[in-house]
Amino acid sequence: MIKLKATLLTAGLAAMLHVSVAVHAQGGFAPPEMALTKVRDNVYMIRGGFSGNVTAILSDAGVVLVDTKFEGDHEDIIRLLRDVTDQPVRYVINTHLHGDHTGGNALMQALDAEVIASLNARLIMAETQETGLPNLTFDDHMRFYLDDMPIDLHYFGRAHTDGDIVVHLPEERIVIMGDLFALWGPYESVIHYAAGGSVRDWPRTLDAALQLDFDTVIPGHSGVTDRTQVEGYRDYLIRLKDMVREMNQGDRSREDIQSMIQMEFGWGGLSMGLGLDGIITEMQ
Ligand SMILES: [Zn+2]
Repeated sequence: MIKLKATLLTAGLAAMLHVSVAVHAQGGFAPPEMALTKVRDNVYMIRGGFSGNVTAILSDAGVVLVDTKFEGDHEDIIRLLRDVTDQPVRYVINTHLHGDHTGGNALMQALDAEVIASLNARLIMAETQETGLPNLTFDDHMRFYLDDMPIDLHYFGRAHTDGDIVVHLPEERIVIMGDLFALWGPYESVIHYAAGGSVRDWPRTLDAALQLDFDTVIPGHSGVTDRTQVEGYRDYLIRLKDMVREMNQGDRSREDIQSMIQMEFGWGGLSMGLGLDGIITEMQ
């Protein structure tokens, strides 16, 4: 756990950066209208707007939701769920701390759902908010059973923030990756250094996730995809950090590095604001 700076961005601002990502990605980002898509008989994805994907895992013992979008999305989420189940939401899992994935937590808690996140994510959230904080946390791994269905939660290390987790459904061979893997198609990485993000550790964190047994990937923002896209994203990150390191070794200026990242990796303003100085420092 890194020490947090007092300048930690609020969840709301942090969430806005995903709007910038949306503009740069073709095809991968969500359509404006929120919609429910079937991934398996018991697993649905809710996608739409600028907020993160929600995954709903259904059972006769209740519903598990992975992420809750913004607070203002709550009613639409509940309405869409009612198309496929009468069961209550019993658990919410937060993939990470950003407000576009956790904004509906408090409203779900008001419906008696328990909210689960990594300990690191909760510690960072507690710096900026008082409501909607996770009730249950874990360090590295937690398994729980929904009825008879195992659900594994893994914290593999720093990446987009410090506190991103992978949700693995071993029987369905699905991983739900949050913003550890937000977009496929044209990539843009958001490395939120003030919340513990790290480009140096991110590829390693993805390698650990790639050890899991899965064939289907639900990203933080794009549509459903597969293992090949995650491997491609890991390679993109390795190329990014290697190029910054090389320019640092050649004593290139901050401005030179900024334009390289713009040209080669398509970063927009908010990604740059949150990540540029951090990546230059980290890749010394
Ligand atoms: Zn995020």
